Amino acid sequence: MARFAPEALIGMADALGIMGGTFDPIHLGHLVAAEEARLRFRLDRVIFVPNGRPPHKKDYPVTPPERRCEMVVLAVASNPAFEPSRIEIDRPGPSYAVDTVTQIRGRLGPDAKLYFITGADAILEILTWRQPQRLAESCEFIAVTRPGHDLRRLEEALPRDLLARIHVLRVPGLEISSTELRRRAGVGESLRYLTPQAVVRYIAAYGLYTDRGSPAAETDIGPQPVSRA
Ligand code: ATP
Ligand code: MG
Repeated sequence: MARFAPEALIGMADALGIMGGTFDPIHLGHLVAAEEARLRFRLDRVIFVPNGRPPHKKDYPVTPPERRCEMVVLAVASNPAFEPSRIEIDRPGPSYAVDTVTQIRGRLGPDAKLYFITGADAILEILTWRQPQRLAESCEFIAVTRPGHDLRRLEEALPRDLLARIHVLRVPGLEISSTELRRRAGVGESLRYLTPQAVVRYIAAYGLYTDRGSPAAETDIGPQPVSRA
């Protein structure tokens, strides 16, 4: 079924990107950010890492990890340089980026380039993450532009040593958020062209973000009702 980043493959990269997120659901904003980063930084691959348990308390019930992960699998299937990863889903406890990056750095070895890709909103909050300095010792950051979030604030918000590890990357602006996709799905509005069609179909098939799609147990994933497109 799913293509999950085999550990051996991670070890073969000279330059790797990590795109982390709740991905509830994944959308074109995430995919454009990852692809632009891959091209501009000549990354061999980008690993998409859905959070198992987001450490920052969310103000809505987060969809079970297996469902979010399946959507990531569907969304990245058409790009051979994109790989979904279960690394955070399979690790018990809250999902901290520093643990994920340390784990991946361990497999890559010290010489490979490792970049953590974030949007403007996420990088501006990096000081609230667990051990940001230690995180910045294991990887650099690619901070992509995002409509509504001003990266010019970065200089005043972050200390110099962290700033030195951050590369700002201008990407085509997509004013798309998972919050907006959840809202649309909840009221029956179209998600078309905001996320890959296979994800649109998955959300509809499971009734996600509607009253009908109550969060299911992680084991409650039957055969895929949707094909990969
Ligand atoms: P939510 O609305 O639930 O917070 P989101 O759209 O922000 O969802 P996340 O899973 O929170 O998606 O984001 C994962 C990463 O992708 C973050 O680093 C975020 O900044 C980045 N990102 C999300 N959407 C965009 C976008 N439209 N453009 C650029 N970066 C984005
Ligand atoms: Mg977000």
